[in-house]
Amino acid sequence: MAFTINRKKIAFFMASLLVLLSSCTQKKAPAVQPEKTDENTIKITATFYPLYVLLLNITDGIDGVELSMLAPPDTGCLHDYQLTTKDMKKIESCNILVANGSGMEDFIEKILETKKDSLIIASEGFELTDNNSHVWVSPTGAIHETQRVVEGLSHLDPSNATKYVMNGNAYLAKLQNLSSYMHSLLDEFSGEKIVTFHEAFPYFASEFNLQIASVIEREPGEVPGPKELKEQISEINSILSGGTKIALFAEPQYSYSTAEIIAKETGLKVFELDPCVTGKIDAPEAKDSYISAMKKNAEVLREALSK
Ligand SMILES: [Zn+2]
Repeated sequence: MAFTINRKKIAFFMASLLVLLSSCTQKKAPAVQPEKTDENTIKITATFYPLYVLLLNITDGIDGVELSMLAPPDTGCLHDYQLTTKDMKKIESCNILVANGSGMEDFIEKILETKKDSLIIASEGFELTDNNSHVWVSPTGAIHETQRVVEGLSHLDPSNATKYVMNGNAYLAKLQNLSSYMHSLLDEFSGEKIVTFHEAFPYFASEFNLQIASVIEREPGEVPGPKELKEQISEINSILSGGTKIALFAEPQYSYSTAEIIAKETGLKVFELDPCVTGKIDAPEAKDSYISAMKKNAEVLREALSK
């Protein structure tokens, strides 16, 4: 009998604790609990690769969570992405949709509206610069998006809240280590100038106090015309003639051709900076792919700026 009462008390205590824990993470009015398509599965869909990697970490080892993403893992940023019928079905059938927001998913803005009760916007609350959506391309931004996604998942799927929080904290610790590592490599280059391929690096630059001297393509595919390219080259050359160093970067996802023209006309060497938007999905290394790519970015930057 006493055993039964204790069990009841424990169960009540645990239930209260869970309510307390989930209420700590709730900032908005309680959302409608997403319907689970079958008893044991909650389907979480990320719009693109960086968020998928984030989710691999936050949902690691949690039973009954099924991850997918809309854009294939080799898509890159979603600037030119065209929604497919398959994507529409995925959006309709998922229990939770995780988007970057801040303009990255403009192509599905109306659809996001229809999913708003089961939507997590990872960049929500991040202070944007010039409405730039590439929040994840800096350790501080990645930390913000991790916290926001953990908060959102705990709110929308309270039954797994403690696990999301635990996994999230483990990933946040890794991101903190990444940040310290990157600062240890780059802090001495504070104030140096870089040329980036597209506008993916303003938060990265601001975190390490680097100056973006020029951006080759405002948006990937927006190739500068001959006049614009000539202006970019003469601007870079005039900075170089003043004795200031500049490091020139292309991105692994896009053609090097414009960067190579600039390199030829300025005498600069092309290095590669990765905005961490493509990669493997099923391989064991996928989980750490963001951290590996950002470490490599810091190492490449150090090499480029040391010249
Ligand atoms: Zn982009």
